[in-house]
Parts: sequence; C-alpha cells; structure tokens
Amino acid sequence: MKYAVNEHGYYGKFGGAYIPEMLYPNVEELRTKYLDIVHDAGFQEEFQQLLRDYVGRPTPLYLAKRLSERYGAEIYLKREDLCHTGAHKINNTIGQILLARRLGKQKIIAETGAGQHGVATATVCALMGMECIVYMGKVDMERQRPNVERMRILGTKVIPALSGSMTLKDATNEAMRHWINHPTDTHYIIGSVVGPHPYPDMVARFQSVISEEIRKQLNEKVGNPYPDYVFACVGGGSNAAGAFYHFLDDEHVNLVGVEAAGLGLDSGESAATTVLGKPGVLHGSKTLLMQTADGQVVEPYSISAGLDYPGIGPIHAHLFDVGRVKFVSATDDEAMHAGIELSRTEGIIPAIETAHAIAALRQFEFQKDDVVVINLSGRGDKDLETYIKWGKY
Ligand SMILES: *Cc1c(COP(=O)(O)O)cnc(C)c1O
Repeated sequence: MKYAVNEHGYYGKFGGAYIPEMLYPNVEELRTKYLDIVHDAGFQEEFQQLLRDYVGRPTPLYLAKRLSERYGAEIYLKREDLCHTGAHKINNTIGQILLARRLGKQKIIAETGAGQHGVATATVCALMGMECIVYMGKVDMERQRPNVERMRILGTKVIPALSGSMTLKDATNEAMRHWINHPTDTHYIIGSVVGPHPYPDMVARFQSVISEEIRKQLNEKVGNPYPDYVFACVGGGSNAAGAFYHFLDDEHVNLVGVEAAGLGLDSGESAATTVLGKPGVLHGSKTLLMQTADGQVVEPYSISAGLDYPGIGPIHAHLFDVGRVKFVSATDDEAMHAGIELSRTEGIIPAIETAHAIAALRQFEFQKDDVVVINLSGRGDKDLETYIKWGKY
C-alpha cells in the first residue's frame, strides 16, 4: 500500500489533523479505535450485510455498448446510482454509523452543502433509531429545499447556519462547535475523504468496496481484474477514492479524476482545485485549496452542487502531487451535454457530478480494446431542476 496514509495521518505532504485543542479528545478517540473496529469480524459482518440487503450491493458493472462504440473503447459503468438513496454516499454513512455505535455514541451530527450527505446521514440514523442533527447553511437550505424536506421526513433536525456566507463552510463550523460541546455522546459523520485524520482514511476504506467489486466483476467479465482506465468525478473525492483504492498500487491502471471547471478555468467561477489551488489547511487537514494570496478560502462555483467545494481530500492532493492520478476538468456546459449524451445512448440520466466524468472521455484517445471504467457516482433525479433550467436538450 504505497499510497496509504502513514502513522502520523499524512499522505506525503498532505493530511494531518489541524484541529482546535478542544476537539483533540474526540478525534484522538476515533484515531486510536477506528482500525480495530473496522477490522473486527462482527463489524464486517454487519457492514457487509447492510451493504448487500439495504444498499443493494454489489452494484452492477455494466458494459455500455453504445457509449463504447462512440468512444472506441470498452466502457463499463459502475452503477453506484443504483444504491439506495441514489449515490455512493450511503456506503460511508453506513460504515460510520456502525462505528459510532461501537464507540458507544447515541447521537449523530453532520454538515451538508447540497444536502446529499445530509440525506445519506439522516437515512442511516432512521435505520438505526439514532438522534440526528444536520447543520446546513441557510442559503443552501433555500437552494436545496427537497433535500431539507427529505431529511425532515426521515426524522432529522436540520439547523440553519446563519454566519458568514451561510453555506457549507459555515455549516462545518457549526458542526465542529456542536461536537466540541458534546464530545462524549456524539459522533460527527463527515461525508467525503476530507477532515482531520483519520476521517480521510476511514471514508476511503468504507468507499473502497467500489473498487473491490470492480476487480471481481471485471475478472468475471473479461478474465482480468485490471481496467486500463478508471474515471471518477472529484468533489471532496470520496467516490474517486473508492473507485481508485484497490488499483492504486497497480501502476498500469490509469486513474483519472475529473474536477468541475465551472464557467471555465480562468473565469473566476470554478471548482478545479488541482489547477487553481495551493497548499493550505481546510476542514482540519493540510491539502490543496482555492484561496486568495492572503489565505482566505475562495468561494468555488460549479453547476453541480456536489462538486462545488473549494478543496480536495488530502489523499487526492498527494496522488496529484506525485502524478499517480491524472486530474482533468470539465465545464458546466461540457458536463450538461455529457449528461444528455449518456441519457440518450444508454438510457441513464446521471447526476451532474457524474456527468463531469463522462465529459472527460473526449479528452482521451483510447485503443479499441481498452477497458475503461467510469464510476457512475449518482443518478440524475435530484438534478432534474438543473437539467430543465439549462434546457439545451
Ligand atoms: C456528493 C457527490 C459527489 C461528490 O463527492 P465525492 O466525495 O467527491 O465523491 C459526486 N457524485 C455524486 C452523485 C454525489 O452525490
């Protein structure tokens, strides 16, 4: 595991736990216990059973014939869009809530931007009968009304963050504050491979079921577990980390992360962190983030709410830094066209996050027998409004 986190919580220059003194006991409890819990046979049995019977795993690996013809390669779609709640995020929230129970926690908090992670968290809290509070920027609550109501239907309390720009970073601050005040009975479920160590490693492990299944399924379908390429979109980077995880040491597998270029890389309205970011500290870890010359976080922009994030997880900052993962980007318009393209060639309307990964295909020249896997991170139902507003179909 050449690219695994080291014992200090770092991936190369990135990672660590940059947290206020008052959060230290919580994070330290998690750090000292998470591996024992995750490796425990009873934990694995319960986790695997829920992934199978509740989430609907393994998700299919589907040979997309018409898309393959169009791009001159053998293109497989890893159907995370078929997971319960419509995306990969539930893999992680199931893992974390089982872990929280084993830590003896009775309450769950989370923060959410677009609301997708909030819904995945509210879902598993309902499943386990645990009390749940989700912090969400007031502005985001207005923009993402259906997800707010989904959380409420599931029995979660959604608290508006009223400070700053009233968006994700403010919700994160509120969640941190809550955790500081309730250190013993509460677990904080983070939704991507971000945050202080051990979160990025823990979330990557829970999502690694994606690449574990891809290997097995490819082996069955083509007699070889190794694709030539794996594509995944990158917001914080959890679906990408999961899709790449079991291929990281197989250097002949080309790994491609696709970021959101928004209105264009030079437009000032973008979320392409590897192009525009510099090293700094975000959400408790050292990583690449978009910031001004004096270190203020720059508001990112993407048409896709799930990619609208000013940083990437430290594992991706490292994989970019050492060149193991190639990062490319797609603009709003390119992604939207790709979303329509997938809808019309395969009958699958993807989440707009995912559409960015599809849009990147045209930036590559494949050999006819190349096996290409695209991680289809989510379904487009939640994005219908955005498709309609965009309108070019
Ligand atoms: C949240 C989300 C993403 C982005 O998050 P990652 O942590 O980068 O995976 C991508 N796709 C979908 C469908 C999402 O809901």
